[in-house]
Amino acid sequence: MQKLDMTVIGGGLVGASIAWGLARSGILPLVLDGADLDFRASRANFGLVWVQRKGLHAPHYALWSDKSAKIWPMMAETLSEDSGIDVGLIQQGAFTFALSEEELESFRADMECVAAETAGRGPAFKVLNRSQTRHCVPQVGPDVVGSVYSPADGHVNALRLFHALHVAMQRRGVQYRPNHKVTSIQPVADGFVLQGGGFSILSRKIVLAAGLGNKRLAPMVGLVCPLTRSKGHVLVTEKCKPFVSCLSATIRQTDEGGIMIGDSEETDNSNIASSSAISAVLASRAIRILPDLQNLNVVRIWTGFRVKTADGVPIYDHSARHPGAFLVACHSGVTLAANHSLIVAPQIAASKLGEDLSLFSAGRFSC
Ligand SMILES: Cc1cc2nc3c(=O)[nH]c(=O)nc-3n(C[C@H](O)[C@H](O)[C@H](O)COP(=O)(O)OP(=O)(O)OC[C@H]3O[C@@H](n4cnc5c(N)ncnc54)[C@H](O)[C@@H]3O)c2cc1C
Repeated sequence: MQKLDMTVIGGGLVGASIAWGLARSGILPLVLDGADLDFRASRANFGLVWVQRKGLHAPHYALWSDKSAKIWPMMAETLSEDSGIDVGLIQQGAFTFALSEEELESFRADMECVAAETAGRGPAFKVLNRSQTRHCVPQVGPDVVGSVYSPADGHVNALRLFHALHVAMQRRGVQYRPNHKVTSIQPVADGFVLQGGGFSILSRKIVLAAGLGNKRLAPMVGLVCPLTRSKGHVLVTEKCKPFVSCLSATIRQTDEGGIMIGDSEETDNSNIASSSAISAVLASRAIRILPDLQNLNVVRIWTGFRVKTADGVPIYDHSARHPGAFLVACHSGVTLAANHSLIVAPQIAASKLGEDLSLFSAGRFSC
């Protein structure tokens, strides 16, 4: 049986961020990943580094997201040094556009609530009326009644980020094995026996970073990971010259020229197929926000399943029953990539999650 010091289970954005961060901390893990056609939120996301309205009724999460957004530039630079890839980070602020007074009020209420719950330490924001919004973004349509603006928000090229993390971790010496789905984890005296089709590995420490797969794996090491899959549609248009002067929660132009329109939050997750009815709702809302979009063709539509915890807040855990088994599960793996590689991974390398992460333990679900 192969014997290892550290194994990361899952090679999506979360597993790759942690593995790269571990490598930077001097620990070279093995990454065991699933198959190419597995559900991978990391290939389906909208690419936002986003803090607006994050952490409503969970101030620790609001501050955690804000912290990640702040250290993202440092991560992008380090990742570029390690991988030779520029992930196209742009953090120049972003708008959430409202198409009714009720929507604007609800956005305002959420932002004010986050500000109050974080005692003003959360992300800065402004609520703009119709004319203020129009002044900032002259292309908005007449249906836009106002917006919320936060200077902390940004976006990246999400597929390039995923690729860069894989290149960087492997250049630092991390071994990556796709098609190695772990089917059982058995805690033993000197670590954990990981088994799957045709392999058996003894690893002294492990990190569960298997996205939706964490739900099944966590109980094998005395942890819980209540997850639901929330389906999201994303549309992308043909490439065009720079057209959208601003970033918004649901419309963004990528550095390659396509305009992404997103992203639905659906509770019917019975299958992954895209729906023309839902795509039409997204497209029509986008055209009401930026009417010039009606001149572009949508060339691709995809869907993905978000990795959503029961309360929407990430889970970071270290098994009390089986020390050496760590768990990382979250939605917003793009936004939190900086925290995962620069903060969480060094803590896992040192075998102890920081006190500030204790509020993120899945123990909160058993209270
Ligand atoms: C439509 C949509 C829009 C989004 N937009 C944004 C956004 O704008 N900003 C943002 O920050 N986040 C966004 N997200 C969320 C973000 O994409 C996810 O948080 C992130 O990709 C999760 O990464 P992950 O590695 O946990 O999961 P995944 O990408 O799902 O990867 C899990 C990996 O684990 C592997 N695996 C599973 N089981 C096993 C096993 N037993 N053994 C070995 N390997 C296993 C799988 O093969 C897979 O490679 C969005 C998600 C969606 C779906």
